[in-house]
Amino acid sequence: MKSLNEALEVLLSAVTPVQEAESLPLTDCLGRVLAQELTSPIDVPAYDNSQMDGYAGVAVEMNNALEPMPISQRIAAGHPGTALQPGTVARIFTGAPIPPGANAVIMQEQAQSLPDGRVKFTEPATPGQNIRPRAGDLHVGQVMLEKGRRLSAADIGLAASVGLSHAPVFRRLKVAVFSSGDELRQPGESLGFGQIYDSNRRMIIALAAGLGAQVLDMGCIPDQLQQTRDRIESAATQCDLLLTCGGVSVGEEDHIKTAIASLGSLDLWKVSIKPGKPFAFGRVGAATFMGMPGNPVAAWVTFCLLIRPYLLAASGGKIAVPRRYRLPAGFDWPRPDGRQEYLRAWVDASGRLQIHERQNSSVLSSVTECMGLVEIPPSTPIRMGETVGFIPYTELS
Ligand code: AMP
Ligand code: MG
Repeated sequence: MKSLNEALEVLLSAVTPVQEAESLPLTDCLGRVLAQELTSPIDVPAYDNSQMDGYAGVAVEMNNALEPMPISQRIAAGHPGTALQPGTVARIFTGAPIPPGANAVIMQEQAQSLPDGRVKFTEPATPGQNIRPRAGDLHVGQVMLEKGRRLSAADIGLAASVGLSHAPVFRRLKVAVFSSGDELRQPGESLGFGQIYDSNRRMIIALAAGLGAQVLDMGCIPDQLQQTRDRIESAATQCDLLLTCGGVSVGEEDHIKTAIASLGSLDLWKVSIKPGKPFAFGRVGAATFMGMPGNPVAAWVTFCLLIRPYLLAASGGKIAVPRRYRLPAGFDWPRPDGRQEYLRAWVDASGRLQIHERQNSSVLSSVTECMGLVEIPPSTPIRMGETVGFIPYTELS
């Protein structure tokens, strides 16, 4: 048996990241991996500007005025004013440039405008108050996004904020996905006795697509060796990564192992995690092969813990180890497994971890009804109140 980390080490050392890059409009960049670091060509903001609707002036003048102050100009966003006349203030609005000479803005809620057009302040000003300084966000030449970063919505906003219309991103990894099993029917078909719906393939396609892959849906393979072989051979010529689920344990109808071994090379691992023990890793031609177990939760856990880091690294991305938050257990786990266990769990209102009552690897609703995975080290009983590691789903997305 391999520990999770040993298995990860082997997988990650086999990664050859994609090299080809393309320049895409920012609106097409969500989830894509940056092929070069991005630096800012400008200061953001490019000028000192007002954070409030109010009045711009010189703090010491506004504080010491014995009389209400005259308003010498009106400055709206997008309409710069002129240098401030001494002894006056400028009416100013959020985002408008601070006029030369002014050093503070008093918000309009702290001002009384008089019928004669002057204004009286009810609160004093400190220099710099309510002014967003030039380059307060980014300065010219600053590295703002690193190569290998998977672009989020805020990253795309940041790139747009410095005027970039496109970003250089790596091409997407091509991932082919198969399910396997004679018992599987497709959603939309009718279900006979002894049959179940093929849930895993759609789930795995969604998981891979969510990580930015270009997914090729290869359908479901019956439990029949020749077909399994032919379809895998053809798929391998079209993808970088070939994923299957089911058919990799020790059953007689598990033909995927035999097919892969005859077409290329195959390693069968027992990874010391529960759910998810059997895992197949190999190669067919230029494609890397990974086979997940068939039980839906086992497939999901295996994808998240083993395939996800590989897929991200092979896509040119930086991989961060999913963060484990230490939180108190709101449950007892007196009979631990010898393997490292991943319990579907959530954080309750008092900040304690609660586990789903059905932890069987076939119960997919235990994934959807929870917020993350509790990690129980091998053979380690847990008593209520002890702290354990919790991986929120957001760390796996
Ligand atoms: P296997 O590894 O092929 O023996 O499958 C183990 C269990 O997972 C069996 O109960 C299968 O019916 C189930 N299973 C396999 N593939 C899928 C799938 N694509 N969707 C849902 N369940 C599956
Ligand atoms: Mg099967």
